[in-house]
Amino acid sequence: MRSRTKVVASGPYTGTGRVGSADPLLLASLANASTVPFWLDDLPPIDPAGRLVGTVDADLVVVGGGYSGLWTALLAKEADPSRDVVLLEGRTIGWAASGRNGGFCASSLTHGFRNGLERFPHELQLLDRLGRDNLDAIEDTLRRYEVDAQFERTGDLSVAVEDWQVEQLRDEPALGAEHGVQLEYLDREQIQAEIHSPLYRAGLRDRDRVALVHPGRLARGLYDICIRLGVRVHEHSPAIRIEPAGAGMSVHTPYGAVRAPKVALAAGVHPSPLRRVRNYVVPVWDYVLVTEPLTAEQREAIGWRDRQGVGDASNQFHYYRLTADNRILWGGYDAIYTFGNGLGPELEQRPQTFLRLADHFFATFPQLEGIQFSHSWGGAIDTCSRFCAFWGTAHSGRVAYVAGYTGLGVGATRFGAAVLLDLLDQRSTPATSTTFVRTKPVPFPPEPFRWAGIEITRRSIDRADRSAGHRDLWLRALDRLGLGFDS
Ligand SMILES: Cc1cc2nc3c(=O)[nH]c(=O)nc-3n(C[C@H](O)[C@H](O)[C@H](O)COP(=O)(O)OP(=O)(O)OC[C@H]3O[C@@H](n4cnc5c(N)ncnc54)[C@H](O)[C@@H]3O)c2cc1C
Repeated sequence: MRSRTKVVASGPYTGTGRVGSADPLLLASLANASTVPFWLDDLPPIDPAGRLVGTVDADLVVVGGGYSGLWTALLAKEADPSRDVVLLEGRTIGWAASGRNGGFCASSLTHGFRNGLERFPHELQLLDRLGRDNLDAIEDTLRRYEVDAQFERTGDLSVAVEDWQVEQLRDEPALGAEHGVQLEYLDREQIQAEIHSPLYRAGLRDRDRVALVHPGRLARGLYDICIRLGVRVHEHSPAIRIEPAGAGMSVHTPYGAVRAPKVALAAGVHPSPLRRVRNYVVPVWDYVLVTEPLTAEQREAIGWRDRQGVGDASNQFHYYRLTADNRILWGGYDAIYTFGNGLGPELEQRPQTFLRLADHFFATFPQLEGIQFSHSWGGAIDTCSRFCAFWGTAHSGRVAYVAGYTGLGVGATRFGAAVLLDLLDQRSTPATSTTFVRTKPVPFPPEPFRWAGIEITRRSIDRADRSAGHRDLWLRALDRLGLGFDS
């Protein structure tokens, strides 16, 4: 095992020197990594759902076959089995963020407690309750329909890898208690008893507000339920235009169209068929590695018996977890935006980020040096300036949309879908009357200001992590405008 003294001395995740020189050990660990997301590689093949051909009528059209769209179709059918629902997916079900994420299924609807507290302090208790109900309902749906999405209600751990983060975590339980959120502070000894890493200085445990899932199986499971409930699903059928048609709407695809009184748009980070949504969301690329399965000795060397999801408390943080077959999924840190809302498949692989992630992985778990990564991939996160979902309607309420989950949509998309249906059906609920649902984020400016603003923010966040969390003028200005990232 190599000494990593230099890494720890300069901050655990900064300036190791190992990435720039393309260290042979890092290169070797990545040599055989497949470029297919592990979660999609791990799925049995199924018959594709055919294209939409010709013009059909329905009661509701859902655009998008990720979690948002699938939950919308599922909940619509559960509420009213006679409702005729068509779901259009531009490519294949769950290929995008929903099939390539970390699988942290959190109860938080607001991208974490801190972000919620910052933006919706008076609603946080209600939002926390709605979020817990939502997570319970996901678990219940999977149980009722016997979907094996490897759902494990493990809770999660935030770990401090620097002293300034220890202070932050220590304050959190008291702050949480004021808003009905239970969190436990763990000192160095207690966190080391959970998971063994030379970098951990303290931790924060959230016992039951986070579950882990197999993202690909979740998307596939929701799809299977939709089919069982009678939703008509068409893959390779992008909605290229929507327009009013009589009292309803017409959604056009390359080979056909669906006419329906109501349209639910759940397009994620992809350009919405509704132009007005586009400036609210930018694609920020996030990258992930998965190791080969750990041996019994490797498991023993790191502890982690309770299998919790883990994230470190840096601004640029890593998230990691065990899979059902005891691999470690390790993602995060770099968040990459490319000029002009880059979304192409060439962005799915980023060797310099994979090397950095591998370096940070071995800094965290030097016991595992020599292990190989079996998969490496990237995915675009639908980032909005308030870091949590927003909703809206158009065409006199005949169209509704949701987007902007910003990296915490695995659980929240079910809630987002329920609200989408409430808006379309003009139902007033505790959720629809919240500021959270009724307001929108600040839109992003056009290029080149968009790129410049995001790049300056990224660099400032990097500097904050290198200087004991100190936020510079730029970050403080964003904080004051309600655009600061803190979750
Ligand atoms: C690398 C990565 C890690 C993440 N980790 C986590 C995590 O651990 N926990 C968490 O909570 N969240 C995580 N997220 C975020 C989470 O995956 C997303 O918030 C969630 O999947 C969003 O689901 P969605 O259905 O809104 O979007 P998507 O999954 O992007 O689905 C949108 C679908 O709409 C389709 N579509 C778009 N336009 C059209 C059109 N015009 N016509 C037809 N179809 C269209 C697309 O093809 C796509 O399939 C992560 C995301 C990434 C990328």
